[in-house]
Amino acid sequence: PQGRVYNFSAGPSAMPLEVLEEVQREMVNYKGCGMSVMEMSHRSKEFMAIAAEAEKNLRDIFGVPSDYKVLMMQGGATLQFSSIPLNMLGSKTKADYLVTGQWGEKAHKECNKYGTGQLACNTKGTKFTTIPQKSEWKLDPEAAYVHYCANETVNGVEFSYTPDVDTVPLVADMSSNFCSKPIEVSKHAFIYAGIQKNLGPAGMSVGFLRPDFADGSKELKICPTYCSFKTTGDNGSMYNTPACFTMYVMGEYLKYTKKLGGLAYWAEQSDKKSGLLYGAIDGSNGFYNCPVEKTARSRMNVPFTINGGDEALEKKFLDEAKKHKLYTLAGHRSVGGCRASLYNGLPLEGAVLVPVLIVAGISLVL
Ligand code: PMP
Repeated sequence: PQGRVYNFSAGPSAMPLEVLEEVQREMVNYKGCGMSVMEMSHRSKEFMAIAAEAEKNLRDIFGVPSDYKVLMMQGGATLQFSSIPLNMLGSKTKADYLVTGQWGEKAHKECNKYGTGQLACNTKGTKFTTIPQKSEWKLDPEAAYVHYCANETVNGVEFSYTPDVDTVPLVADMSSNFCSKPIEVSKHAFIYAGIQKNLGPAGMSVGFLRPDFADGSKELKICPTYCSFKTTGDNGSMYNTPACFTMYVMGEYLKYTKKLGGLAYWAEQSDKKSGLLYGAIDGSNGFYNCPVEKTARSRMNVPFTINGGDEALEKKFLDEAKKHKLYTLAGHRSVGGCRASLYNGLPLEGAVLVPVLIVAGISLVL
């Protein structure tokens, strides 16, 4: 519709128009029940059906093993990585963290409140532009778990594979590449993701939890009931009032995903969109530059600088982009430069326009 722009925001971020329009259609009188989803009890027949269908679609789309719990929890990924040591340390005192960006760094810090978060790797020295080989990781076989961030949103660093950590339980923050490609759920003890990038509005997160962590046996005594994986799992994600409306919108996004062909569809789109952008950046003879090593580049978040970090030119680029309806292309406040986030809700034609602008930018200046 008129007035909508191409929104490259890193999250909350663009949603598929079809999903927004369906939500709009159902907004004031959900399926003839006389009220909006926002207004109904979470214990109502209508809402219980919404929650059950969302869980079923998560299981189908992501191929979640039947003995895993699907957790739908209030709050974002920060609450999740804060809850992980409280639910997963058990009688152990140490956990390993593969730190490849700012989110992994924050998760690691949280563990030190309850135990010892060990740095199995830390690429801060490269300004978070690499993923070291496994031979360089310092993995402790006694660690309670190994945590990694599958896609670092600020730095644009993505694992293209599931890390192999032998028998130590593997934990993944998939907030910013969730629902962008098929994932190997059974290789993980816990996967979590805030949904405001690729699967809905802000307000909740999704978790896939292996049964040996769902029985409370590794939960610390001080774990708030609100943060307990066992309590959430035992109560079908409704121990307390869930983020009802957010969950409903996620459900619509999941239905839409199914209709399009599931995760394979989003994977193809992400490859196309990011391929176009990296192609233009790499073809600019260094005028535009993405600092991330090629094998670690993210399909979701593409950070880049212009003319070696020329702030005046970057501002010009952002202004020019806005004139062409390309919004929110500024880099994270901590790293500067530009960043294009290419989530599911960003249409392919939007991703095509940035390379066009990049090429136009080169000819304008050179
Ligand atoms: N992990 C990653 C990879 C993220 O991108 C974000 C949010 N940008 C977070 C964690 C924190 O999520 P929230 O703000 O929802 O707590």
